Amino acid sequence: MIWNPNKECMPREQMRELQGKRLQKLVSYVYHNVPFYRHKMQEMDLSPEDIRSIDDIVKLPFTTKQDLRDNYPYGLQAAPASEIVRVHASSGTTGNPTIVGYTRRDLAIWSEVMSRSLTAYGVTRHDTFSVSYGYGLFTGGLGAHYGVENMGATVIPASTGNTEKHLRLIRDLNITGIACTPSYALYLAEVTERMGLSKDDLSLRIGAFGAEPWTENMRQEIQQRLGLKGYNLYGLSEIMGPGVSYECEEQHGSHINEDHFFPEIIDPDTLEPLPVGQTGELVFTTLTKEGMPLLRYRTKDLCALMEGECPCGRTNVRMTPIMGRSDDMLIIRGINVFPSQVESVILEMKEFEPQYLLVVDRKNNLDTLEVQVEVRRDFFSDDIGTMLGLKKKLSDKLKSVLSISAEVKLVEPNSIQRSEGKSKRVIDKRKLV
Ligand code: ADP
Ligand code: ZN
Repeated sequence: MIWNPNKECMPREQMRELQGKRLQKLVSYVYHNVPFYRHKMQEMDLSPEDIRSIDDIVKLPFTTKQDLRDNYPYGLQAAPASEIVRVHASSGTTGNPTIVGYTRRDLAIWSEVMSRSLTAYGVTRHDTFSVSYGYGLFTGGLGAHYGVENMGATVIPASTGNTEKHLRLIRDLNITGIACTPSYALYLAEVTERMGLSKDDLSLRIGAFGAEPWTENMRQEIQQRLGLKGYNLYGLSEIMGPGVSYECEEQHGSHINEDHFFPEIIDPDTLEPLPVGQTGELVFTTLTKEGMPLLRYRTKDLCALMEGECPCGRTNVRMTPIMGRSDDMLIIRGINVFPSQVESVILEMKEFEPQYLLVVDRKNNLDTLEVQVEVRRDFFSDDIGTMLGLKKKLSDKLKSVLSISAEVKLVEPNSIQRSEGKSKRVIDKRKLV
């Protein structure tokens, strides 16, 4: 099923035309309503009339998270305060939160794009869906909530916390779908097992997972343990919240709601646009937003746009899974390392729980990387030789993937802190001094 075939399957030329029209309108709107953009455009000697088609987007200035912070709290708001009906804030994973105001129409579009996502996962009006992203200033909870309601499934606003009670509800109410972070899904699987329940006691069939990077191996792990199919759900508060892009039944790249959010991939150093297929920084322009529209917002998320048609019939462009944020990229002895690379290696080995932590430090002027990982109970041994062998097996694999050596620290099951929201997988002690 496709929620809005008119928009999700629009012929490419027609889509570009629509995007062009919307961009022209947007540029004129921000020029007249947001002094920040007017000044930026004036500095560049650019007027709204210079934007005639979507190709002209490259002429426009970028917006960064720093711009949002400099104009805290409402400096980039375009709509008058009387039109704003809700305010959210980014979760502040990497600094001070940024504030986003929504008009009534913004909220309707948000519900629309969330409904498209849920429908692509196979959710129908007959499903009962638990929203286990945090409710509150974070966009995850309320964003998913109104999407579920809008498409006519039943929403259970479980939020996070009290996982045992939540699991009993999942069982007793025959909950069929869940929206949460992949880390929380994993935690839910653990608690299920700890409570003596199995996936067969639950009716879960669809998971909408996002808000943090996750690997294909993580997907397999969660799918097996919870007995559902897990789909990617991507979004960020500055642009809207969850529902910016979504996977279809192919589970191969996430379709971007590009009639509302226009994507570009740029080289984060030169800021030049990169050709389709190359990995770089994802940039979005909000084509229809009223509350806080943004021109060419630099997300810091690293991915590529995918070429070619999708067998599902949708024509809107897909993006690859996010490798991580440029902020999350660790530079260790001059080599770039992403936590997702470590995750891939660990989840391929049956000896380990899918729980790990990277500890980066500097000793004698040399960067060090320690990878802590939980050994599954069945593989824990009193025999030192066995454990050393396991340690070596993992460090060899890490070395071949990362190109640097890491010190492996094997820890007991359940010793690494679990997360109900976005998990924290890195401690960089170099930043603490
Ligand atoms: P914060 O920047 O404070 O975490 P948000 O709560 O708005 O703000 O989170 C948005 C960010 O979360 C995205 O920019 C991205 O880094 C991450 N994210 C969201 N969904 C996904 C996803 N499906 N895969 C990977 N990362 C995601
Ligand atoms: Zn598809």
